[in-house]
Amino acid sequence: MQTSVIGFPRIGTLRELKFAEERYFKQEIDQAELLETAKELRKTHWQTQKNAGIDFISCNDFSFYDTLLDTAQLLNIVPKRYKDLKLSELDTYFSMARGYQGTSGDVKALAMKKWFNTNYHYIVPEVEDDTTIELSGYKPWEEYAEAKALGIETKPVIAGPYTLLKLCRFTGSKTAKDFTDAVISAYKEIIKRCEEEQISWLQLDEPMLVCDMTNEDIALFKNIYEEILPCKTNCRVLLQTYFGDVRDVYEELISLDFDGIGLDFLEGKETLQLIETKGFPTDKILFAGLVKGKNIWKNDYANTLRILKILEQKHIKTVLSTSCSLLHVPYTLKHETKLSKQYTSHFAFAEEKLLELKELSQLATQENYETNPAYLDNQRLFTQKRDCENSEVTKRLANISETDFTRLPKRTERQALQKKVLEIPDFPTTTIGSFPQTKEVKANRSAYRKQAISKEEYEAFNKERIAACVAWQEEIGLDVLVHGEYERNDMVEYFGEALDGFLFTEKAWVQSYGTRCVKPPIIWGDVSRKKPITVDWSVYAQSLTKKHMKGMLTGPVTILNWSFPREDISIRESITQIALAIRDEVLDLEKNGIQIIQIDEAALREKLPLRKSDWHSQYLDFAIPAFRLTHSGVKPTTQIHTHMCYSEFTDIIPSIDDMDADVITFEASRSDLLILDALRANDFETEVGPGVYDIHSPRVPSVEELVTVIKTMLQKIPKEKLWINPDCGLKTRGLPETKASLINMVKATKLIKDAYTS
Ligand code: GLN
Ligand code: ZN
Repeated sequence: MQTSVIGFPRIGTLRELKFAEERYFKQEIDQAELLETAKELRKTHWQTQKNAGIDFISCNDFSFYDTLLDTAQLLNIVPKRYKDLKLSELDTYFSMARGYQGTSGDVKALAMKKWFNTNYHYIVPEVEDDTTIELSGYKPWEEYAEAKALGIETKPVIAGPYTLLKLCRFTGSKTAKDFTDAVISAYKEIIKRCEEEQISWLQLDEPMLVCDMTNEDIALFKNIYEEILPCKTNCRVLLQTYFGDVRDVYEELISLDFDGIGLDFLEGKETLQLIETKGFPTDKILFAGLVKGKNIWKNDYANTLRILKILEQKHIKTVLSTSCSLLHVPYTLKHETKLSKQYTSHFAFAEEKLLELKELSQLATQENYETNPAYLDNQRLFTQKRDCENSEVTKRLANISETDFTRLPKRTERQALQKKVLEIPDFPTTTIGSFPQTKEVKANRSAYRKQAISKEEYEAFNKERIAACVAWQEEIGLDVLVHGEYERNDMVEYFGEALDGFLFTEKAWVQSYGTRCVKPPIIWGDVSRKKPITVDWSVYAQSLTKKHMKGMLTGPVTILNWSFPREDISIRESITQIALAIRDEVLDLEKNGIQIIQIDEAALREKLPLRKSDWHSQYLDFAIPAFRLTHSGVKPTTQIHTHMCYSEFTDIIPSIDDMDADVITFEASRSDLLILDALRANDFETEVGPGVYDIHSPRVPSVEELVTVIKTMLQKIPKEKLWINPDCGLKTRGLPETKASLINMVKATKLIKDAYTS
């Protein structure tokens, strides 16, 4: 059986691409050197796959920033403002990806969005009314030739026309319809060029097919491919999908003239059923996505081989494939020197997944693979008990009752009570938690980690920072204060390290966007809290002021979404375990005199299922209660806040209100304020702090500007419900602009207040 990889991580085993690019941005190396590094990396990545015995290796899965942006540039979807800079092709590309400020002009970057249900972000291509979509680049073929010169046959991979049209933003009066013909012509050209280069397979990625499709969408998809596919003669086309199943378009898909169809059997809950009930044509090759591209656990060979057997019995020509690009997992286990084999034997990162593909493809053709040592070794991982259970946690979980998910009395009563008892003024001002992390703050943390300073020294330094931060917040007149989060690097890492059940890697980086990578913790076992985590810091900070100090925690959904989750228990169970641990911390904060507690759910929307029909049953029905579980035990007068890093929750407003927080802050300054209308339309009960300025930019908003923003908000939100705060945490900002902005925010609030009282 042959094997295929949809895409391979491009950032390098030790993030070489990231570092080369950053040096290029700082003009420490020139373009030639950057290109050379990139070429070396591609070579390594192809050879690694070749050596592992992979049959279908991708090219053009490499990218300096994002492959959707690559496709946009390939098709001349480059807005005028970037073309006008008259930079080199590569620098034009970077100007779209990250903005440009220099002698040639000043433009912001294109928007960035989350790539389906992953933590990877793509750049949103912009089509203007006068954009001429046409093939105008060579990247896929240059990379193909480069691999060929190394003796490696590859399949170029390009974002498919349907997905591209669906993900583009149309900035003028024209819509996708107006560009469909041009897109069709461009893809015909792509196929023609592949024919000329005698390429045997072209992979077109169409993940949009796993989302809900309307009849119009299906017609568009069909129309596009009916036009394009007749162009091919020798070059075969693989239509690749991932992140779900293609239930809305399966019949159309198998009746079109594709040579190969890639389906995801893991996230695609209905994939096997579709094949079983509707069949699969014998003249096409099925690229069966059975080795998970999204998680780090080893493949369960029994399950994979069982499915491969079913396909074989149906006489379906099958190539064994990853379920999605391996971009979403770290590169290799080789660099993990600290984790014991007891743990790592359960993991497969990208390189190890190549071996799994190969091994599985060999086992699949063996009569009695059940006795093969490779198979037996693999099965031992699943049959032997992993040391991951904590009976205390099991007991606690079993004892949760419905009432634990309900906070009493009901929110409207609490809100009235809190206003009085907590003496919260009208238009209360606050911040989201973190304050700028200066070099000294980071150096202090890092010195402590390396044991270069003692715990006492570490804490003394942070306490000084906290004291200064609190004093300054008092000085400028903020109402609800924070301690500044100087002890935290990444919030999920911070809580993960303090909780039982998590494992941490050294070099297991995953690309999040462009040159930015994250190192998600691994949830290995049952999660519980060993001892209080944040209480000392919060109590210390509270001791410095008569104003309220907000306790600052991260919520269970976010902790889970930004980790590699377990697969031996359900997400629901994992989230609930984490919720219980955070609940302990909430109650301890309360017991120690903290009356306002914020539980951040920055990533709540991230794992919302791609299909609307799954939103509730597969996610919200347990994610929202898990949040409630964290705070249902507090007194009516303890005020619970939450924070989200976006305002794109218009479609799930009732669920957000169901979290039953007393106050929610969220990002609003960069988005239009339609969310506020939607809140009103839904009788949103939670008090709200829609960020009044954008913390993602160093720009300082003026007092007048802020007054205008607040006034607009007041047209939509009752004055009793409005909080005044920035968009998000201030961690990544500089101190001067942070101070100036907050001073203006407080001044603007005062003007608003005066206007109301006079
Ligand atoms: N409390 C966190 C902070 O201020 C929230 C960060 C986030 O939402 N990403 O940094
Ligand atoms: Zn945020």
